[in-house]
Amino acid sequence: MLATSVIELHQSALKTNLDYLQGLFGPGVQYSSVVKGNAYGHGISEFVPMAEELGVRHFSVFSADEALEALQASQNSEIMIMGHIDNAELEWAVSQGVSFFVFERDRLEGALAAAKKVGKPAKIHLEVETGLNRTGFNQSEMEQVCPMLIRQADHLALEGLCTHYAGAESVANHVRVIKQIERFETWRQWLSSKNIQPRKLHTACSAAAMSYPQSRMNMVRIGILQYGFWPSRETFIHCIRKNGDWQDPLKRVISWKSRVMDVKEVHTGEFVGYGTTFMASDHMKIATVPVGYSHGYSRSLSNQGRVLIRGKRLAVIGMVNMNLLIVDVSECAAVRKGDEVVLIGEQEGHQISVSSFSELSDQLNYELLTRLPRNIPRKVIPMSSL
Ligand SMILES: *Cc1c(COP(=O)(O)O)cnc(C)c1O
Repeated sequence: MLATSVIELHQSALKTNLDYLQGLFGPGVQYSSVVKGNAYGHGISEFVPMAEELGVRHFSVFSADEALEALQASQNSEIMIMGHIDNAELEWAVSQGVSFFVFERDRLEGALAAAKKVGKPAKIHLEVETGLNRTGFNQSEMEQVCPMLIRQADHLALEGLCTHYAGAESVANHVRVIKQIERFETWRQWLSSKNIQPRKLHTACSAAAMSYPQSRMNMVRIGILQYGFWPSRETFIHCIRKNGDWQDPLKRVISWKSRVMDVKEVHTGEFVGYGTTFMASDHMKIATVPVGYSHGYSRSLSNQGRVLIRGKRLAVIGMVNMNLLIVDVSECAAVRKGDEVVLIGEQEGHQISVSSFSELSDQLNYELLTRLPRNIPRKVIPMSSL
């Protein structure tokens, strides 16, 4: 059966983004592609091979189930779990060479046991507390586990030392982020004085990597930017001011399309759809599109959203329903059943971007993207077909 909408992933856009970002960071910085949240809604199993073809060799996920999906999609890349892995899954991670953050003693002990059992070192990244106050060893906890790290070095491969910033996308958090960068350096020196030398130092997400170059160290964990979105308007402005021109260097990888299901006429004075939120003030022509809030098209876009049909930007009218939405196509007499409808993306030079869309729907880029349901088919548009 055909799905009612399709998500397309444009590999050429991804190449533009990777070239720009990796060019900026330079060859000394390992690029880790963050694919948590089903690759920000793009789909892990489609996104990972597409990025691998463009040379990406390191992927970061939140949890063990995502790591499994990334591993299955990948040919020869490192996979790193930044968040949750159950102790019972540690043996699996160790045997597969999947690395993971460690921020508490119990997981460290679990990793050691798993490494001994599997006969392979556990690849661990020590996460330290620098001020986000979410996860991360504090000083006394670290002092307690240090002897284990040293004694068991054969079983515990210290792949990295890491932390995460408390909102690098907003200058409101500037002082807090700068303090975190300083505390991280203190951690590094302190560990070094105990002869503990992690292979990689990594702290930067997209916003930090752009706004605080010193946070790049020797690895960055880049999510939102590689998909062609900015972590915040502030980060965008900060960055393009430095570039000296006002062109957005990034391209959106995703587009989301459906087709017109039906077209009909409505008489002046009639209400359209459920309730009374929209009344036809003229004789009008409407099109229904089989996409609704159950497909990730937010209800808050009722009477607000815009879509593209036949190269025209047209208004969503009335309430967004569970499975469909209604568009005012009065100004475009040619609209027919089966016409392409762009919900996100481009058509004949016009664009519906997720950022305008998500401002309207009062959601962050991140949230809108990751809420795109898994069962919408993802279709990769490879570079070679362009
Ligand atoms: C999500 C996440 C990132 C990437 O964040 P972006 O803002 O999308 O670049 C980096 N590090 C950690 C720990 C994360 O959870």
